[in-house]
Amino acid sequence: MSISTQWKSPVRIFIVHAHPEPNSFNGALTRAGQAALSGAGHEVVVSDLYAMGFNPVSDRRNFTTASDASYYHQQSEEANAAAHNGFSPDIQAEMDKLFWCDALILQFPLWWFGLPAILKGWVDRVFASGGRIYGGGKWYDRGVFAGKLAMCSVTIGGPPPIYSSGGLNGPIAEILFPINHGMLYFVGFTVIEPFLVHAPARIGHSERQEWLVRYRERVLGLVRAPTIAYPKLADFDDTYVLKSI
Ligand code: FAD
Repeated sequence: MSISTQWKSPVRIFIVHAHPEPNSFNGALTRAGQAALSGAGHEVVVSDLYAMGFNPVSDRRNFTTASDASYYHQQSEEANAAAHNGFSPDIQAEMDKLFWCDALILQFPLWWFGLPAILKGWVDRVFASGGRIYGGGKWYDRGVFAGKLAMCSVTIGGPPPIYSSGGLNGPIAEILFPINHGMLYFVGFTVIEPFLVHAPARIGHSERQEWLVRYRERVLGLVRAPTIAYPKLADFDDTYVLKSI
């Protein structure tokens, strides 16, 4: 069964927004997406990480419980917290939004070829092992969030050619692989091709407006958007090498 035939209506969208400036182009994208989706009758929740003052540092503050007070091992504490409802309220709230949503959107500017630290910290803290978000055989297509969609909406400082296959910075798909595959698909999401706006500070106002129109169309058509066809666990042998190689 395809994702589109499983989709309930109205759809529940969770946007995790990571930009320090509300009037940035990232801010405009999040507001445009939120307004379009809400206007179409969908439910939208936004975690604006800077506005929330979200703490991105992963340590004992992730938990209200402790399985070993003398040596901090994060994944052991995550397993213990998963068994005893021991996640801190800020993490539990974000987990609840993940379980609530049908689709997750990560909205961020590309910083140092990756996620801004506040969003990387959100992933570090919220994507907890011990079976809550992953672990115990729950990963990739058997992951906790199998059946849900996820998409990165990314602004990029450089123009498209420098991020092409022969470009100086390398292909953008390879740069985003750790996020799309290593984070989103890892926990089970079906990953939609990213929405990319290159060089928003260098293009003109009217072109930026056109990108906002395209973004509204993308989020309203999320369920029909192209997805990245990653292999499934069944495609790998018992050493996790593709059987077809
Ligand atoms: P902004 O500069 O906030 O906005 C661009 C323009 O859009 C502005 O003129 C703004 O006024 C205008 N705007 C805002 N709202 C609207 C609206 N509603 N309608 C029309 N126009 C509007 N780039 C890379 O390519 N690779 C990297 O690895 C990389 N690393 C970085 C690391 C750091 C720490 C930093 C700070 C930047 C890095 N960059 C990198 C650049 C970064 O990716 C871009 O600056 C960013 O993506 C631009 O998005 P923005 O939302 O910040 O744009």
